[in-house]
Amino acid sequence: MIEIAERFLSIQGEGHLVGTPAYFIRLAKCNLRCPWCDTKYSWSPGERVEVRELALEALSKGVPLVVATGGEPLLQQEALAELEAELRSSGFEGIFQIETNATIYPKALEGRDVWLTLSPKVTCDYYVADTNLVRKIIENFEKVELKLVARASDIPCVKRFLKELGEVSVPKVLQPLSGEANYSKASRELVMKVLEDKELRRQFRVIPQIHKFLKID
Ligand code: SF4
Repeated sequence: MIEIAERFLSIQGEGHLVGTPAYFIRLAKCNLRCPWCDTKYSWSPGERVEVRELALEALSKGVPLVVATGGEPLLQQEALAELEAELRSSGFEGIFQIETNATIYPKALEGRDVWLTLSPKVTCDYYVADTNLVRKIIENFEKVELKLVARASDIPCVKRFLKELGEVSVPKVLQPLSGEANYSKASRELVMKVLEDKELRRQFRVIPQIHKFLKID
């Protein structure tokens, strides 16, 4: 069984795989309490569904990407390992992406064909980033991206994180924080900060959440 808050068909609106048609499975519950969280409804207990049923439902959508998001999906990593196995044994050859806050090591997923999107929290008002853990995940998993959510004013904290992490060769995305009243303006400010900074502009792509602009889920 797996406990979920919702599931829906959309396009991936953020990160390296942006624009890809995807089936989203939002897992229930989270171990963090980010003040600017835009999915607080996922913190509550959710609906319990059979993993196989969910895998078949995802497959029936015929999309190249299945996304497990949250909440914090790695709180249910054994169920995710089961889901990956069900998807693969049912013929799914696309990407199984897991979006995590990178506070829990995904032991149950070692050796599985997954794409891990690590999103440690590095804003200055809520900094929860274990760089040793992030490095360990990057070292032990083949397909990993780093996605940092920030405002222009959070750049010093983003840089602190990068300094503590050291060089890692994974795709890196900076995503403007979506809670800002004027998202276009907040995105432009972040872009300008990145362009001003040698280290950031060498390493990062800046990708706003396109589903916010499109006004879809
Ligand atoms: S980790 Fe994600 S789901 Fe959890 S509180 Fe933070 S933004 Fe919300």
